[in-house]
Amino acid sequence: MLTDIEIAQNCQLKHIDEIASGLGLERDDLEHYGKFKAKLPLEHNNKDKINRSNLILVTAITPTPAGEGKTTTSIGLADGLSRIGKKTTVVLREPSLGPVFGIKGGAAGGGYSQVVPMEDINLHFTGDFSAIEKANNLLAALIDNNIQSSTRSLGIDPRTVLWKRSMDMNDRALRKMVTALGGKSGGIPMETGFNITAASEVMAILCISKDFEDLKERLGNIYVGDTFDHTPVFARDLNAEGAMAALLKDAIKPNLVQTLEGTPAIIHGGPFANIAQGTNSIIATKMAMSLSDYVVTEAGFGADLGAEKFFNIKCRHAGISPKAVVIVATIRALKYHGGKPLADLKEEDLEAVVKGKENLRKHVENITRFGLPAVVCINRFESDTDAEISILKKACADCNVPFVESNGFTKGSEGTLDLAEEVVKATAKCESTFVPTYDLEDSPREKIEKVCQTVYGAKYVILSNKAKRQLHRFEELGFSRLPICIAKTQKSLSDDEKLLGRPKNFDINIREFEIAAGAGFLIPIAGNILRMPGLPPTPAAEGIDINNEGVISGLS
Ligand code: ADP
Ligand code: MG
Repeated sequence: MLTDIEIAQNCQLKHIDEIASGLGLERDDLEHYGKFKAKLPLEHNNKDKINRSNLILVTAITPTPAGEGKTTTSIGLADGLSRIGKKTTVVLREPSLGPVFGIKGGAAGGGYSQVVPMEDINLHFTGDFSAIEKANNLLAALIDNNIQSSTRSLGIDPRTVLWKRSMDMNDRALRKMVTALGGKSGGIPMETGFNITAASEVMAILCISKDFEDLKERLGNIYVGDTFDHTPVFARDLNAEGAMAALLKDAIKPNLVQTLEGTPAIIHGGPFANIAQGTNSIIATKMAMSLSDYVVTEAGFGADLGAEKFFNIKCRHAGISPKAVVIVATIRALKYHGGKPLADLKEEDLEAVVKGKENLRKHVENITRFGLPAVVCINRFESDTDAEISILKKACADCNVPFVESNGFTKGSEGTLDLAEEVVKATAKCESTFVPTYDLEDSPREKIEKVCQTVYGAKYVILSNKAKRQLHRFEELGFSRLPICIAKTQKSLSDDEKLLGRPKNFDINIREFEIAAGAGFLIPIAGNILRMPGLPPTPAAEGIDINNEGVISGLS
């Protein structure tokens, strides 16, 4: 089989006007970025159409480090739905350069289920991340400038400043640093650092905002730190929100591209699913729902992180609800959860599949608890055997969940027709909207307990003394009604990445809290979460090249 980039480069792309016309849009409705990319102005959102559209969430079991194929399956499913005559759009996140140059590679799908032009989508795209970075860094500069000012100082205590700079690169050297060296004119030295752009609060804000007004209000609500007399300082106290929003003038508009088979794809925003909500922008999802009857979207990592936040943060805030949830599993990940070492996952092992399916079962139970129809989808890999697949099929039949095999990676829409049919059936069965895990009126502690106990399957939640102190302070500041966004490892249902399968009798330890007062969520941190990752010993970047004709190779 050809590589992802070879397949993408062999594709005859349609002009973006043709893709847009399939959505009922005229040429003048678009802001063109060349022939194959365009921005969609905000006025295309339509409330009545949003209410009628069938939103489908693609999530996954607890993933192995390589990813289980949610993006690939989302794209394949969208092509399958188009092929059976449904007007469909796939809505995804924009790839971050950290993973593109690191271990994981790009995030534009794989095989015959990709979005194109994949090189552009994976590298810079329409510049949204750069704009987010600039808005983020403008606030950092304004804070430092205020600390330096002798006439307009707010009295910010530099030791309390939480705001960091951001850059879209895996660059561990920037994680922790001291800035403002060079004597009096260089400012007041401060311990600080960089976050990768996908982990910045401005990214989270862009993706949760409904329009410019909302965007500005949220940017103004960013909690910067405290003054020496303990008064909280917000970005609005520095008059930062207007200029920050102005920098995001185009970044707030969703990007239209296409799949290899010409299905419209809207790609917008890219917050990570541990420290943030892990899904594309509300504006993009609603726009896709305004423009098509079926909308396939993805939430990051496993369903314990991505889907939980998708429902409790995004859908609750946006007033939308999916009509079906596809849970992507792979035989290799199930074997991994059944105790088989990473290096041996290609060998047939029926016993490991049987053991590992407990992880899948927990995720299915969780989706059922959200009150929505689930469809289990095996993203088929070359090494999967029919015997392994049939064990899983039987397990799903035993617990009454539809089970489908997807071959979108090797065959495109031809490999996802069964999945598309099953998903259409599931959406037709859906009678209600999702049931949230907690109420916003619950105390933060109750919210955390409800998520940890019902979604993760934990026994108790333990807060460190530091976490208790911070929570008390955030409650005093009036942040109790915010939803919570728990940051924990994606590698386990628990907060310990070594506990595979379906762990039982474990506690969740909340080490500390962060606040994203602008994005509007409280972040309990369970474990060590890197907001600025590093590159691996052999970065994917070393294999990427461009020739004299401008043709890029080595991206995956
Ligand atoms: P996720 O969205 O869950 O993180 P992706 O869809 O990005 O996962 O897939 C992760 C990687 O696995 C990609 O490089 C993709 O090309 C590859 N991949 C996905 N499905 C298959 C498959 N069925 N066979 C082989 N490789 C696959
Ligand atoms: Mg993905």
